Amino acid sequence: MQEREAVIVDIDNTVMSCDQRRAALCSDILGRPVSADEVWRDLYCSRLLSGPLQEQYFRDFLSTKLMFLDQPYPLAIETLDLLRARGVRIIYLSGRFRSPVDKGRVTLEFMRKNGLYREGDAAIFKPSADVHDFDFKRDAIVRLRHAHDIRWAIDDTPRSLWVSRLSGIFTVGITTSYSPVRFHFADMIVENWGDVKALVESGIL
Ligand SMILES: [Mg+2]
Repeated sequence: MQEREAVIVDIDNTVMSCDQRRAALCSDILGRPVSADEVWRDLYCSRLLSGPLQEQYFRDFLSTKLMFLDQPYPLAIETLDLLRARGVRIIYLSGRFRSPVDKGRVTLEFMRKNGLYREGDAAIFKPSADVHDFDFKRDAIVRLRHAHDIRWAIDDTPRSLWVSRLSGIFTVGITTSYSPVRFHFADMIVENWGDVKALVESGIL
């Protein structure tokens, strides 16, 4: 069978910023305004929250609450369109889950509306919140490789990107959530989609 060229793309803080939503969730919990700067590169909001307050934050973040506040990166939309025009399939691989609430459905609706998900793309979500992200991504990649030539993978979370690295896929770390040193193992480190777009336009990615 002919293998189709594809790239694996994470969703949260890779193609869309969740910082506004995370700040709003913290604001609800603390009862005071919280800016996106206060939660920047602090996925667990541990600078602001601890104990039961942090547990509440996790419950809220894992629900569909305020998901409409997520903000697609405009240059991600443009760059993924460039890849599609070359016949490269966009495969979203995300720790967002289908159960107990179907975040996958809400996510696809949102991404279609915002130009991130187009005809021919694929999106694979965790079947359940109980499944570990690492195991989910590892198993999904094994299956994807039966029918795809995976050119590269991009992710904002080092331990998720590490799964692709272990599979021998060219890895691109985007430093929207973690500092560059956390991506010491990656084949390439980018700061934003402006970098990715330039690399795609020049044929490096
Ligand atoms: Mg992510």
